[in-house]
Amino acid sequence: MAEDVFKKIVSHCKEYGFVFPSSEIYDGLGAVYDYGQNGVELKNNIKQYWWQSMVLLHENIVGIDSSIFMHPTIWKASGHVDAFNDPLIDNRDSKKRYRADVLIEEQIAKYEEKIQKEVAKARKRFGESFDEEMFRKTNPRVLEHAEKMEALHQRFATAMNDNNLEELKQIILDEEIVCPISGTRNWTDVRQFNLMFKTEMGSTAEGASTIYLRPETAQGIFVNYLNVQKTGRMKVPFGIAQIGKAFRNEIVARQFIFRMREFEQMEMQFFVKPGTEMEWFKRWKELRMRWHQALGFGSENYRFHDHDKLAHYANAATDIEFRMPFGFKEVEGIHSRTDFDLKQHEKYSGRSIKYFDPETNESYTPYVIETSIGVDRMFLSIMCHSYQEEQLENGETRVVLRLPAALAPTKLAVLPLVRKDGLPEKAREIMDELKFHFNCKYEEKDTIGKRYRRQDAVGTPYCITIDHDTLKDNTVTLRDRDTMEQTRVSIDQLRALIEDKVSITSVLKRI
Ligand code: ATP
Repeated sequence: MAEDVFKKIVSHCKEYGFVFPSSEIYDGLGAVYDYGQNGVELKNNIKQYWWQSMVLLHENIVGIDSSIFMHPTIWKASGHVDAFNDPLIDNRDSKKRYRADVLIEEQIAKYEEKIQKEVAKARKRFGESFDEEMFRKTNPRVLEHAEKMEALHQRFATAMNDNNLEELKQIILDEEIVCPISGTRNWTDVRQFNLMFKTEMGSTAEGASTIYLRPETAQGIFVNYLNVQKTGRMKVPFGIAQIGKAFRNEIVARQFIFRMREFEQMEMQFFVKPGTEMEWFKRWKELRMRWHQALGFGSENYRFHDHDKLAHYANAATDIEFRMPFGFKEVEGIHSRTDFDLKQHEKYSGRSIKYFDPETNESYTPYVIETSIGVDRMFLSIMCHSYQEEQLENGETRVVLRLPAALAPTKLAVLPLVRKDGLPEKAREIMDELKFHFNCKYEEKDTIGKRYRRQDAVGTPYCITIDHDTLKDNTVTLRDRDTMEQTRVSIDQLRALIEDKVSITSVLKRI
């Protein structure tokens, strides 16, 4: 069922110009996608919402735009050359490749699902008097699942922390995890796989050097820390924000834009005094959750997931997960990265990378709290939440994309009722005035009902219809996407009525 919904969302994305498979006429390229005419607008609005929430709302956060190519030693210093690996495993029968850690995480999730099923069954049986907490503590079947889940969780965390590949395979065998395609347990050994793409810079005659496509934007911020701190006269605590492409040669590429090989990140590194990092970690956790929830999707669709396995550089880490049709999934990571990166760059570059605190006359290497979110995953979560098939009172169904108005590609569709009698001219006149304030689209083809449906399907929050009365009294019909209510409003009021509801500012104020 959830799978069907997800399939529909993927085809909707294509049919309505949001997301196309890359190089489609050549049968596509694995896990690479292009954004179409509506997708690019939604994506730009997401980026704007993030950028403004960071750079406009915080006096002590500034932005940069660093290049994708960087000196190869940066990736040695950051640890990516040696440790940016995923454990992979192949099924010999289906010839499909999987991430061993993901197979085990899915198995853990299955125990949780079993517990939830028991709880749901009992709730039905006991009705009003059901005490869920008591049930979870005492029901033998729930306790058995919970115990198995906890044991598996512990074993998995230890194997990951020790980088013990044999143990990962043994867990897969012991848990009797089968390949979802072949249904067999004919697994290869688990191997490490480095996710960075390599290319060459310079011609071979001159001695070309291997360089990498950046797997995260964060390192571009670290290597510019001194430049920005000095030229911007930044005082700790301060942050540097960046939006840009990142590249990872992902092992498994079967989840649409959830896991891509070329994607975009929005990252912010916040430099703080050592010893204060846990306060800031907590603060950024709260702030980032508020940023997500200000979109109005309901707090029950988000949760934090603290990491068992900390990356080599981190002393605390959590994910913000969103309820997708295929379960709660990571959309953003918040990491306390200590002074690892700046210290490493100091060591590898031989430059002093410190902060001189004018108040205490001390020099130190700042600690870093990072917030890192994928634009494409955010895009997917918004699409999944907004896509709805609705049964109307007259028995018809409509597909409506209930995008937050501030993120919608088009804010207003301007529709003349018929293509004659001066109505198109009047519509153009209104459009020419409003197009300076928000994204408008003019459409005159097909019946008005069909045009409304098309706008519903791309998430346009408002439509106006220009009819014969418009010519007499300068009023139009304003239709609301969500309620489908139609009201008669004067043309002079349109801008004020709509602008406030569709502006990013209105969402920023809710954070
Ligand atoms: P995962 O565990 O799903 O591979 P990650 O923990 O490696 O993700 P981070 O390195 O923390 O991810 O990257 C920060 C964010 O970048 C993620 O929360 C996600 O939104 C996004 N991201 C990471 N990898 C991809 C990808 N292959 N495709 C799309 N977005 C991605």
